[in-house]
Amino acid sequence: MSPRLRFAPSPTGYLHIGGVRTALFNWLWARKTGGSFVLRIEDTDQERSTEASRQVILDSLRWLGIDWDEGPEVGGPHGPYAQMERLAVYKEHASRLIAERKAFRCYCTKEILDAQREALKKANPKAQFKYPGTCRNRTDEPDLPHVVRFMVDREGSITYTDKVFGEVKTPNVEQQDFVLLRSDGVPLYNFGAVVDDITMGITLVARGRDHMINTPPQIMLYQAFGAKVPDFAHLPMMLNQKGEKLSKRDGAVGVFEYRDQGYAPEAVLNYLARFGWSHGDQEIFSKEDLVSAFSWEACGRGDGKFDAKKFLAIQHEHLKTERLLSADDYATRVLPFLAQRGLRDVTKEDVLRALYTVRDRARTFVEAADMLDYFFREPPVMDEKAVEKFFVKDAAPRLRGFRDAIASSAEWTEADLEAKVQAYLEKEGLQIKDVAQPARVALSGRTASPGLYQVLFVLGREVSLARLTRAVEIADAR
Ligand code: GLU
Repeated sequence: MSPRLRFAPSPTGYLHIGGVRTALFNWLWARKTGGSFVLRIEDTDQERSTEASRQVILDSLRWLGIDWDEGPEVGGPHGPYAQMERLAVYKEHASRLIAERKAFRCYCTKEILDAQREALKKANPKAQFKYPGTCRNRTDEPDLPHVVRFMVDREGSITYTDKVFGEVKTPNVEQQDFVLLRSDGVPLYNFGAVVDDITMGITLVARGRDHMINTPPQIMLYQAFGAKVPDFAHLPMMLNQKGEKLSKRDGAVGVFEYRDQGYAPEAVLNYLARFGWSHGDQEIFSKEDLVSAFSWEACGRGDGKFDAKKFLAIQHEHLKTERLLSADDYATRVLPFLAQRGLRDVTKEDVLRALYTVRDRARTFVEAADMLDYFFREPPVMDEKAVEKFFVKDAAPRLRGFRDAIASSAEWTEADLEAKVQAYLEKEGLQIKDVAQPARVALSGRTASPGLYQVLFVLGREVSLARLTRAVEIADAR
């Protein structure tokens, strides 16, 4: 049977890149094995869950190219795929456990439990309070608010073989009669997750190792239902440079922050794949490479530190490399970033003509849009300080000479432009450095640009000559 995996985010904020790593590993395995990837929304924390956050999660996954076979907006045979729409399923499952005396109704109020906790704390400040089993053997069913608790067998232990961490054994005495359903019928995380994973036919649960503590009580529930226990794979954590859990304070952690900074989704996946997984010393992977190379055996146990510099380096590699991102795709993707700068009429063909001049240097689409700006803006934004410095009276004859030299190029190829300029320089006893900076500023408005002949070639005859003539006029008027 092909595996069924799931990603079960809580819609309580943006999609954290640590969550994406979890989604990615599940998705990679599903795609590699021809299995199914299910998306489930765990929205039982009603105070913190929002519709907006749910949408951000779906949109983030779509932007990343992590598609789901079943779930919200896609449907599937095991829906609904949001927990608050499944309350009847949890109720029915809880009733079954109660009928089999594997769970029980507990009428202890918060006040009663708080008082017991306080009393224990007084007697022994170090002791950890556990529910004392007060309602375990109650046989009456008063019409009063109650929770449903699981009847934990305190003997024995739970053992499972994690696909990453190996054998994990936890004695049952560590557990208490944990709550399955709250008095309002909303399930607690362990119960909701297990009922869903059973009814959705999940065969492999992969998630952050911060959930390892939940695995033994979850296995108890599978056993209580007589259901097959799925495989588990827990993944090491993503930490900040100080070794703490990565959070907003450490900079960009939401997927869309990277989208807005001009990262390619493939680069984001590439970087995140390396958290907890390796493939020899290979660092750069396309999405297809990841699907074919991924395996649980190659997942490690060591937590990783988020490294923004390395992330950017991988992103740069993706933008530079035609195999990872075709010029055509690149041009399409940079257009919205040009539009953001007000350059709305630029076409893909325009970008394709200019792209080779910036491709090696631009690390993000934002940088690419900035580097491409003056090719498409008429007049270009002029660096006023540079105008001041280079368009001086002295420079006027050289700018004019440069302009006339290139005007004599009939072919308008980089090589011919260079030959014409060289001939002019030799005739005048000048060197390229005597004209390069004023010409560069005239053509691009900037003091740094790709090679002059590239800029001329891409701008074309008409625009190049017009920009140089404007510079000559300014210099003349000084
Ligand atoms: N809703 C849980 C979370 O976001 C899911 C944990 C799990 O995958 O079981 O952490």
